Amino acid sequence: MSDLPLKLFNSLTRSLEVFQPVHPGEARVYSCGPTVYNYPHIGNMRAYVFADVLGRTLSWKGYDLTHVINITDVGHLTDDGDAGEDKLEKAAAQSSRSIWDIAKHYTQAYWADVEALNIRQPAHWSVATDYVEAMIAWGEKIASDHCYELDSGLYFDVSTVPDYGRLARAVTEDGEGRIAAVDGKRNAADFAIWRKTPAGEARQMEWDSPWGKGAPGWHLECSVMGEKLLGFPFDIHTGGIDHREIHHPNEIAQNQAFCGSDHSGASIWMHNNFLVERAGKMSKSSGEFLRLPLLVEKGYHPLAYRMMCLQAHYRSELEFSWDGLGAALTRLKRIVMAVERLADSSAGDPAHPKFTDILARFDAAISDDLNTPLALVALEEALAVKKVDAGIKRAVVERIDTVLGLRLFDLSRADLRIRPANAQLTEAEIEDALSRRKAARADKDFAASDAIRDELAAKGVEVMDGDPLGWDWKL
Ligand code: AMP
Ligand code: ZN
Repeated sequence: MSDLPLKLFNSLTRSLEVFQPVHPGEARVYSCGPTVYNYPHIGNMRAYVFADVLGRTLSWKGYDLTHVINITDVGHLTDDGDAGEDKLEKAAAQSSRSIWDIAKHYTQAYWADVEALNIRQPAHWSVATDYVEAMIAWGEKIASDHCYELDSGLYFDVSTVPDYGRLARAVTEDGEGRIAAVDGKRNAADFAIWRKTPAGEARQMEWDSPWGKGAPGWHLECSVMGEKLLGFPFDIHTGGIDHREIHHPNEIAQNQAFCGSDHSGASIWMHNNFLVERAGKMSKSSGEFLRLPLLVEKGYHPLAYRMMCLQAHYRSELEFSWDGLGAALTRLKRIVMAVERLADSSAGDPAHPKFTDILARFDAAISDDLNTPLALVALEEALAVKKVDAGIKRAVVERIDTVLGLRLFDLSRADLRIRPANAQLTEAEIEDALSRRKAARADKDFAASDAIRDELAAKGVEVMDGDPLGWDWKL
């Protein structure tokens, strides 16, 4: 679409770099996917909104995108070191369902959130348990030069690769401090690539391997699936900022061992910052947490949450609040109201002098390490352009929305109304009461009009006369 180079922040070099594809015209991206032992929280979903905007931007720039997101259904421990339990085994032990049912259930819940947030389908959803054979083969290849066996499993010796932990840098010591000790490890940062099932224990998920019955380590999974589906080196590896500390340094160490080079396996490593609550970090292992369906239950359209994510740069921490979500919803509604005026025109040619600068600013914003906050301003500027053919404006807005993914031409004002799921009145009943009230007012029967308003108020509906945003009512 444009010749402006795409600059992305590479966590590995801690600097902005111009994206240069490994394979001309292509972009190959791997994103660490969810661990499906529980529902995803909205912080997890921020990671996928970010990866989606990255993918959409690569498409906007004209690259042929191959995106892989994995589903972690085995191997992710309750502790970032190797002393914890497998998160899925633990969930299964606490419930009457099988581990496979648990994984399926939470994968589907995750996919529902993906769809609700208009995150595009990647080329592959790679499920970790489908790749165990490949993981064992990978382990066999690197074992003799890079690994050692303990009673608990096969461990990777991080001193056998150059510059271990360069991705984590300043946080390395902190990171290692978080790793629980495992007897016999040569270096604190060594990690299991295969965990043996302890004698006398039965696991629901286990496989035979040269190192005994057991299960692959979480880090190995991502290395293997990335290599199998995208080939080394691929272009971009993404994940949340917590992965910069342990998971990704460990993937890099394995990739180096596998390739026999000091290449990390991907040209650029990108990390989204966290969504936080005032109370602190969001965590799905701690009982109560914010899920997308909860937002919907309280009356917020899921795309208001996508808007909230886009309003912050992906590398900035974003604090969740209901007020913030409400503000994002209102902004989205203003945009949708402006877009509704274009609905009847068919899209024209976006190349029009009135939009040249705006499209260039939009492109400059997303080309500058995905600056979505600025890109949104360009969208609003496009909508504000006066005295221009609606079809041309429509085409411009459609183009912009291929990157922002707000589904602007599918949404209506009514979709964005705050309407909690437990509301007593249906939309139709409210609309009916309002039209009766309108008729009463036209007849100058103000007593009747007030009575209808009070009736609605008693059922939790506030009538909003003359609201500039056109919210006629709210619950
Ligand atoms: P998990 O399912 O725990 O493996 O996490 C899925 C993705 O969400 C990973 O990329 C994490 O780094 C990311 N993540 C976890 N918590 C948050 C958060 N509060 N905000 C943004 N991303 C997060
Ligand atoms: Zn991963």
